[in-house]
Amino acid sequence: MTTPEVKSIDKEKIKDILNDKKGKMKLSLFVCAHCGLCAESCPLYRAHDRNPEYMPSYKVINSLGKLYKKIKKLDRNFLEEIKELIWKNCVLCGRCYCPLGIDIPSMIALARGVCRSQGISGVYPHSLGAPEEDFPEALSHIGVSEKE
Ligand code: SF4
Ligand code: SF4
Repeated sequence: MTTPEVKSIDKEKIKDILNDKKGKMKLSLFVCAHCGLCAESCPLYRAHDRNPEYMPSYKVINSLGKLYKKIKKLDRNFLEEIKELIWKNCVLCGRCYCPLGIDIPSMIALARGVCRSQGISGVYPHSLGAPEEDFPEALSHIGVSEKE
């Protein structure tokens, strides 16, 4: 039995996207003190019984942080692995407060941009699989707005 072929990814395109914002993003990843303060202002973290996988810092470190770390060894499987974390676990509402001024939504948006550039996108929370373009309206019904 043959194993299904995994479609390759355009690594140069991914590198261009990541390198474009490398200075700011790597500085943010470096200065994060892992204090967890941003978690208390994240509505999804609180709505999921403070599950660590919904902590803003966890979402960023395990998506964008790993994209930069693995930049030379990225593959489609890894992008598929992080898509749940950056779509289902975050609505880019911008409510996460960091005393150091780290802009979590822009970091998660960048990780989404990398995935989208390779034709990969995830499912938003509460969307039951509805298409991405329907999401802003659905979000407005639960009192949250998405910034991007
Ligand atoms: S992003 Fe800011 S608030 Fe969140 S863990 Fe890092 S330093 Fe703390
Ligand atoms: S943008 Fe909103 S959902 Fe995403 S981590 Fe920040 S507070 Fe949570």
